[in-house]
Amino acid sequence: MTAAALAAPAIGADARAKSHPIVTYKGIRAEWDLYEDVPGLGALHTVCPRCAQFGLITQGNKRFHVDDRGRLSIDEPFRCDYCHWRFGLKDGQLLDA
Ligand SMILES: [Zn+2]
Repeated sequence: MTAAALAAPAIGADARAKSHPIVTYKGIRAEWDLYEDVPGLGALHTVCPRCAQFGLITQGNKRFHVDDRGRLSIDEPFRCDYCHWRFGLKDGQLLDA
């Protein structure tokens, strides 16, 4: 499987992602989807770069933001529900946390 194939699925026919932030982890690129129907109440559909499983991060659980260059940051570390790896995300760069 190539890293470029990592992309989060749409959550429904009516749902349109606001943006598709690109994150990188040790040279692996993954495209996440940002849904934000109400400003400040967004949800991120994530793809784990280690196990390629999908996840969900909501603004209510972890605060995140996208800067004016489209780079995504999450204010605190998060964990993949499947492989339980902990990541930090700063300016679109995923790091082990
Ligand atoms: Zn994982």
